[in-house]
Amino acid sequence: MNQEKVALVTGANKGIGRETARRLAELGMTVLVGARDRERGESAVRSLCATSADVHLVLLDVADEASAARAAADVAQRFGRLDVLVNNAAIAIGSGPPSEQSVAAMRELFATNLFGTVAVTQAFLPLLEKAAAARIVNVSTSLGSLQLSADPDAPVARESALFGYAASKAAINAFTVRLANELRAKNVKVNSACPGFVATDLNQHRGPRTVEQGAEIIVRLATLPDDGPTAGFFNDAGAVPW
Ligand code: NAP
Repeated sequence: MNQEKVALVTGANKGIGRETARRLAELGMTVLVGARDRERGESAVRSLCATSADVHLVLLDVADEASAARAAADVAQRFGRLDVLVNNAAIAIGSGPPSEQSVAAMRELFATNLFGTVAVTQAFLPLLEKAAAARIVNVSTSLGSLQLSADPDAPVARESALFGYAASKAAINAFTVRLANELRAKNVKVNSACPGFVATDLNQHRGPRTVEQGAEIIVRLATLPDDGPTAGFFNDAGAVPW
């Protein structure tokens, strides 16, 4: 059923992104591995070729609008459309509570995590609108949930040191909802995914979950049926509060 689908995963050269790419390839999709570095991207494509031969590198630095435009033109020329976009690429830098958070670090965080996600999505929307039933998955985190952050009993509320990162993901959630509303009539579903605390380079491998577990909800949202949700925020267990 997924035989002819084309999926792009940004930041797919490692971590949850690479595992998501592997899973989508396993489902029979043509998978485009977005990577900002050619060598790292080629190395991921080589490793994913064990799953499927239909895996291809797309050079894409999400923080660079010109790179996003070039990548979209490249995909248009090679594949003609896009069925699935997984906005996975992100950085987690900066430390200290909100009162001390470096604004320079926040600018960098927002440049990649939010503006990168918006720029890539805008560049690829014309190709997504050519697909019969496109799916956009924005990889977020429960740290971006304002409702959980306001609950003193929620573990998320104690993570004040990650304020800049959390704020960039809360902004991504706003993008998810607004874009989903805009695209409702076009059969493009847009959802946010929370992979949980996964052991990757992003957190020096401190997370208890595996990349396989983290990718699960992303894959589920990338392969939603026509009666599936849009404008939602989900983890493995169901809806995550905004
Ligand atoms: P990771 O292993 O550090 O992978 C991040 C990926 O993003 C890498 O491929 C990295 O490429 C790429 N990237 C960063 N900046 C980029 C840019 N400007 N252009 C293109 N690619 C860029 O982290 P991860 O844990 O797998 O994170 C994947 C997603 O899950 C992120 O959105 C993260 O916020 C989210 N998430 C992770 C956790 C967790 O516990 N790990 C929890 C909640 C949410 P390079 O190799 O070139 O740096």
